[in-house]
Amino acid sequence: MRKKVIAGNWKMNKLLGEAVEFVEETKNKVASQDKVESVVCAPFPYLPTLVEKTKGTELAVAAQNMHFEENGAFTGEVSPSMLADIGVTYVVLGHSERREMFAETDETVNKKAHAAFANHLIPIICVGETLDQREANETMTIVEAQVKAALAGLSEEQVKASIIAYEPIWAIGTGKTATSEQANEVCTHIRKVVADAVSAAAGDAVRIQYGGSVKPANVDELLSQSDIDGALVGGASLEADSFLQLVEAGA
Ligand code: PEP
Repeated sequence: MRKKVIAGNWKMNKLLGEAVEFVEETKNKVASQDKVESVVCAPFPYLPTLVEKTKGTELAVAAQNMHFEENGAFTGEVSPSMLADIGVTYVVLGHSERREMFAETDETVNKKAHAAFANHLIPIICVGETLDQREANETMTIVEAQVKAALAGLSEEQVKASIIAYEPIWAIGTGKTATSEQANEVCTHIRKVVADAVSAAAGDAVRIQYGGSVKPANVDELLSQSDIDGALVGGASLEADSFLQLVEAGA
């Protein structure tokens, strides 16, 4: 039985006071990590404070990105060891907004996945097709290529520990959710890709989230699907109440 993971991706939102208020409001209300993993993916400047405030609670803290190098002349970047050093436990990699606007590629996502494991961070690896690709019936091939590239060279144990977020780009921040059948069809395919590329056990163990306009009103239906093991949520994760409802659905 795969444990569900509900991750709230705040993107570039909230000021420090709002971020602290959110975790103070949620950290003692989220269900136990034995039942569901609850994660907030916060902007870099807030990570040390949020890690400190959530210590000993069931709420985990993630970064939304990182570099793949450990240190060096990379002005403005944050390294995996810096995240690990301050107690961050998850990192989102290859979000479509980074692929579209910040030149993230399958190759850099793969380097970052290796760097994440080298620093004991759990990667949440985002994949997904554009509307044009879906309409051209390319969804499965696009997503398959992204998954294989992202996981290339990882050990079976690392793949088992990875989280893949299937996020159709046309459903992110648009209010258009993939139907639960559409979402599950792709998640089932991703699981098969992992099973064929790595092992049946890895395919069985890897957790696959759906992301794209998930909200309290549609989360139950999405999470009831056979191959959806959680959600990566943008807009509906910004309010504490709504985040808590999403977590409750995963518990
Ligand atoms: C996301 O940021 O990954 C996302 C899915 O956003 P939203 O839930 O707002 O569509």
